[in-house]
Amino acid sequence: MRWTIGSDIDGTLTGDAVALQRLAGRIAAFRAAGGKFALVTGRSYGEALCGLVDEGLPMADAIITQVGTEIYLPPFVPDQSPLAAWSTQLQQAFTHQRAVDFVEPDGQWVLQSGKANTALKASWWYVGRGDPDAAAQRVAARVAEHPDYRMIWSSGRDLDILPATAGKGCALRFLVEYWQRDADACVVAGDTGNDINMIEAFSRGIVVANAQAELLRFGRERNGDTVFMASHPYAAGVEQGLDYWSVLP
Ligand SMILES: [Mg+2]
Repeated sequence: MRWTIGSDIDGTLTGDAVALQRLAGRIAAFRAAGGKFALVTGRSYGEALCGLVDEGLPMADAIITQVGTEIYLPPFVPDQSPLAAWSTQLQQAFTHQRAVDFVEPDGQWVLQSGKANTALKASWWYVGRGDPDAAAQRVAARVAEHPDYRMIWSSGRDLDILPATAGKGCALRFLVEYWQRDADACVVAGDTGNDINMIEAFSRGIVVANAQAELLRFGRERNGDTVFMASHPYAAGVEQGLDYWSVLP
């Protein structure tokens, strides 16, 4: 099989530097044998690049950033533009201002730093004192009336509004097709709610043991057939899952 691996970064690859170093070595061998590896993250492109240098992340064949709204292919230079074929497609029916307007200015949400807010993604943190899930549900109800927009809720704190056709899973599916690879030979790994879209989009997923409640719940519902629930956390859990799916050489 010509496998593709897509992995989230924070809390999935990061968290245990020794385990990550071991996994990075195995992913390098996987790539040398013809496998494709993609980092799929909520980070900005610059933050993801820093991770390659400073955090020992495995070198990748693609970096999908900003929760699946941007795709980068090598050479991964600092000022690089995202893959136009993907960005152009997402711009059709989305504006940042419209996405911002879904969230009422009631003091419960604060827009994240400028880096996290882009032309294709509006991002908030929950800062209210009530039930964050209930507050997110109220935003979700408003977004649901607009089929061109998608809301993603993660970690009881992070709220993103993206084009409905974006998200980690949609971006990785686009990339797999762009590479002319088989979507059935794809394994994905994550730890929070913004990884659900990715794990849902493929037939082999990995949920690390340290995952947030929302993803553990999702994974347990699918346990067995399409999602491997790792007993190890962080990179050790990803490695365990890749061995379970027999992907690494
Ligand atoms: Mg994560």
